[in-house]
Amino acid sequence: MSFPKRTHTCGELRTEHVGSRVVLCGWVHAHRTFGGVTFIDLRDRYGITQIVVKEDSPEHVRQIAERTLRIEYVVAVEGTVRQRENPNPRIPTGQIEVLAEQITILAESELPPFEILEHPDKPRPSEELRLRYRYLDLRRPSLQHNFLVRNAVYQIAHRYFAEHGFIEIETPILMKSTPEGARDFLVPSRIHKGKFYALPQSPQLYKQILMVAGFDRYMQIAKCFRDEDLRADRQPEFTQIDVEMSFITRDDIFELIEGFTARVWSEILGIEVERPFPRFSWQEALSRFGSDKPDLRFGLELTNITHIAANSSFEVFRSTASQPGGTIAALVAPGGSQLSRKQLEELTELAKKHGARGLAWIKWSDGTVQSPIAKHLGESIIEQIRAATGAHDGDAALIVADEWERCMTVLGALRTEMGRRLQLTDNARFRFAWIVDFPLLEWDHAEQRYIARHHPFTAPVEEDIPLLDTEPLRVRAQAYDLVCNGHEIGGGSIRIHRPALQERMLTLLGFSLEEAHRRFGFLLEALRYGAPPHGGIALGFDRWIMLLTDTDNIRDVIAFPKTTSGLSLMDGAPSEVSPEQLAELGITLACK
Ligand code: ASP
Repeated sequence: MSFPKRTHTCGELRTEHVGSRVVLCGWVHAHRTFGGVTFIDLRDRYGITQIVVKEDSPEHVRQIAERTLRIEYVVAVEGTVRQRENPNPRIPTGQIEVLAEQITILAESELPPFEILEHPDKPRPSEELRLRYRYLDLRRPSLQHNFLVRNAVYQIAHRYFAEHGFIEIETPILMKSTPEGARDFLVPSRIHKGKFYALPQSPQLYKQILMVAGFDRYMQIAKCFRDEDLRADRQPEFTQIDVEMSFITRDDIFELIEGFTARVWSEILGIEVERPFPRFSWQEALSRFGSDKPDLRFGLELTNITHIAANSSFEVFRSTASQPGGTIAALVAPGGSQLSRKQLEELTELAKKHGARGLAWIKWSDGTVQSPIAKHLGESIIEQIRAATGAHDGDAALIVADEWERCMTVLGALRTEMGRRLQLTDNARFRFAWIVDFPLLEWDHAEQRYIARHHPFTAPVEEDIPLLDTEPLRVRAQAYDLVCNGHEIGGGSIRIHRPALQERMLTLLGFSLEEAHRRFGFLLEALRYGAPPHGGIALGFDRWIMLLTDTDNIRDVIAFPKTTSGLSLMDGAPSEVSPEQLAELGITLACK
């Protein structure tokens, strides 16, 4: 099909182009005819330009404009730019219009199942429908903006890391199943029937092996795959900026990543972020904010009141305080004396959802105290709690009693909720921090074994190594997370580079030596051939773009995302395959 060559985009023409002959190509965004004159809004990803067809325009042009054109038809328009009689100050091309001399239809369109136009006052069509017709959804300017931002951050990443001496190396998508914590996606091998590749949960082992190979500074914008139950902000495949360096300390990584973060925020949002980022130990983050990814845009810090509550006659507090690690702590809700019974019930539900057995509260208002446990606590303890938490008249204290970590996390969830309700979370403000000194291990009650909090290749803090034999849960990891506004936006660690320690770590995690070698033999072997001390980090690229484009929906920043049940509604994946395909792989289905 021949058609005239485009001379400008639909976002480009201004008053200085008046009188020029131009060719614009794009989609019919809207069209209307009044009194013999047809106006067409022509759209491409750069903007919208008004096209006019007049009564004295050539007959065939009028025919097309008035009778043939429909919404979302693709056309080429040839014409002359002229000043608009009624300028539209809301769009950059609003001073001009193009008087059409020729309109060529390049493609017709069926009537779209929803309008591309975004009306602030009209509800958007359901996400299900938009994902089914994703190519139409992606025509929306707000979604296009997200992918332009995403692209800009790719470019900054390539440039920044290259400037800092990093080289980009691709690692395999088909790899050996070496669990890193989540469930692997498996791919059957046709040639080696009964054997499987796994899709990488991250390039972790390859990047470490690249350090053994001497590459020194590696970076990759990598796809990662984890077969887990999805949550609103998770996708089975997601993107990381993956980084690894040799002969460095944690501080080198912090400096590098802070510099990158500052570059991105400055170039994309024009915001100069404050550096260095504050650092909190995991212990401190949990004690003060009830979270290992605290939202630092607001205070609402937690207070440990175990020593006060232990002396009360309230049985729940007494028995909790007498357990090892038993903790009673409080969150002050400013103005919380106004919380209604229903609101308190909602907060109790939220606490229970996060594993609490219940939620106690005390309200102070007009010099009086109200609390379902006032009698059990007595005036003196209540006053001590008020003084310790700094609650004022008009406030409420929300109190949880449980094992320390659970107690703090429940209050952390309540803190986040109060921050939201009190509108303390302005999305135009960004507060970054590093969380350090995570515990290396946690005890998995279901599996009755230790599991690595970060991953099994993370080095313990040197001075804690002797504790591996005596009190493994007290061993700190040389791991760190980068957090922003209540989200984890990156995580990494200094790695174990000595094979004996790596073996010890794997056996501590419940692998027999043989099993450790069967699964991770290639890493253990590589570490025996001169592995440099090394460490790295991975940045959650999708989450970064969500912050930069101010969306809570991860699907707004991934071009072809899956639903929360792992479906791709546009192409219908996952789908059945033919019996021949299964036979070739030597697979018979147990469920049909
Ligand atoms: N591979 C790790 C992850 O995906 C990040 C790292 O330790 O570099 O969480």
